[in-house]
Amino acid sequence: MADDPEPGLDPHDWPAFRETAHALLDAAMDKMQTAREGRVWTPFPSEMKLAFDQPLPETGQDEAVLAAQLAELLPYGAGNTHPRFFGWVHGSGTPQNLLAEITASAINANAGGRDHGAVYIERQVVRWCRELFGFPEGASGLIVSGTSLATVIALKVARDVRLEFSSRKDGLANARLTGYASAEAHACNPRAFDILGLGSDALRKIPVNDRFEMDTAALRAAIVADRAAGLQPFVLIGTAGTVNTGATDPLAELADIASAESLWFHVDGAFGALGSLVPEIASRFASIARADSLAFDFHKWLHVNYDAGCVLVRDEAHHRHAFTDRPDYLKAATRGLAAGNPWPVEYGPELSRGLRALKVWSQIAGFGTQRLGAAIARNCSQATYLAEKVAADTRFELMAPVALNICCFRYAGAEISGAALDALNEEIVIRLQELGIAAPSTTRLNGVTVIRVNLTNHRTRSADLDLLLAEIAALGENTETRRAAALA
Ligand SMILES: *Cc1c(COP(=O)(O)O)cnc(C)c1O
Repeated sequence: MADDPEPGLDPHDWPAFRETAHALLDAAMDKMQTAREGRVWTPFPSEMKLAFDQPLPETGQDEAVLAAQLAELLPYGAGNTHPRFFGWVHGSGTPQNLLAEITASAINANAGGRDHGAVYIERQVVRWCRELFGFPEGASGLIVSGTSLATVIALKVARDVRLEFSSRKDGLANARLTGYASAEAHACNPRAFDILGLGSDALRKIPVNDRFEMDTAALRAAIVADRAAGLQPFVLIGTAGTVNTGATDPLAELADIASAESLWFHVDGAFGALGSLVPEIASRFASIARADSLAFDFHKWLHVNYDAGCVLVRDEAHHRHAFTDRPDYLKAATRGLAAGNPWPVEYGPELSRGLRALKVWSQIAGFGTQRLGAAIARNCSQATYLAEKVAADTRFELMAPVALNICCFRYAGAEISGAALDALNEEIVIRLQELGIAAPSTTRLNGVTVIRVNLTNHRTRSADLDLLLAEIAALGENTETRRAAALA
C-alpha cells in the first residue's frame, strides 16, 4: 500500500498481480501447445535488441507492463522446442516442467545445504541415477548446470585421489599428470584439464577407428610412452555418445585398461548414457557401471528444461574429501536447520544453488523411465530412417555410420567438390536456419564439412525428416544458394 511505511517488494495489489500472472502462464502454455507450428529459429529483432540496451532504471514499472514485456520474449528462443530443431545437442523441454519450475521458484530454496526439502529431493534424484547406471549404494552425486561442470567436478576428484589430496592445499607441486580421451571427445574435457591446472595438452587425444570410436591399441601405446617419459597417467575418459556422430567408445575394454593401469575411469555420457533407458541398446552402456565417475545431462535426452546435469562418483568419501570445507559459519549440526548432513556444498564448488533437482524429479516421476526411454528409442529409429533415405538418394552422401541418434551427411548433387562443396553445404544449413524451416548444424568429419542432424527431440516425427531432405535438395539446386556459397 502506498501508505505502508515499510513496503518491501511484494505486489501492491495482489488480485491484479494474480490476474497478470495467470495471463502470462497462459501465454507460456500457448507457446508450448503450438510448439510444432511456425518458424524454428526466429532471430531476435533489432527493436528487441534495443529494448535490452537501455540505461540502468532508477524507477520500476507497472507489473502488467513488465509481464507484457516478458510475454513478448516467448517466440525468441534458439528454436529447440520446435520439432525441426536438429542442431548441436539440445533437449526440447516439456510443458510439465514449467510446473516444477514455478514451484521451485516459489519455494526459492538455496540447495547448498541445511535441513529442508530441497536436500531430500536431490538425494532422491541421485539415488535414482545410481540405480539407473548401476552405481553402488556408496556412490554420491550432485545436480549441476550441465556436463561441463560435472566433468570439472569428476576430474577434480580424480586428480585429488591420484595426489592423495595434497593437491587441495599444495596444488600440483611437481606432479605431471596425464589423461586420455578420444580425438572425438567433447571440448569440455580438455577445458576441465585447463581449469584444474593440468593444462589441456595433458589430455591426450587418442585416434579413432572408422566408426569414430577410440582406438585402444593407440591408447595403450600412449600410456606406455607417457610412463616411459616419466609422466603420471591418472585418468581415462570414455565417451558414451560423441557429439559429432553419436559413437560410443568400447567402454568394457576401457574399463579393463583403466583397471589394469590403475587409472580413474570417467565416462562422458552427456546424452548417450541415457541410452541405458532403451532395452535394445542398453548393453552398449552397461560398463558405465564400472566407471569411477560419470557426467551426463538431464537437459538433453531427458528433456528437462534448461539447465540440469549430473555428476556421479563411485566412492562418496573420495567425492566429499575433494570438496568438503566447512568453516564455522557453515558448521554441521545434528538438530535444527543446520542439520541434514552431508550438505550438497560438500560435493562441488557452489554454495548457493537453486532447486534444479525438483524439475528433474518431476520429469522422472511424471513420465517414468519407460516413456522417457521410448522417446529416446524413437529418436534412434528416426536417425536410421534418415540415413536410409540419404543412402537411397544420389543427391546425398552419408558421411558417418549412424550409431545412435545422429546422422551426418551432405548434399552432393552439384558438380563440385572440395572447398566449394563444403561451402555449399554450409550455406544450405545457414539458409535452413534463416528461413526458419529447420535447424541442423554442421561439423567436420575426415576433413570435410557435413550436415549434422542430431535427434534429441521428442516432438520430431518422420515427416519432419522427409521435409528436411526435400528442402535441402531444393536449396542445393537453387542458383542463389550456389552463388552465395561460391562467394563465401
Ligand atoms: C553437450 C555435451 C557436453 C557438454 O555438456 P553441457 O551440458 O553443454 O555442459 C559434453 N559432452 C558431450 C558428449 C556433449 O554432448
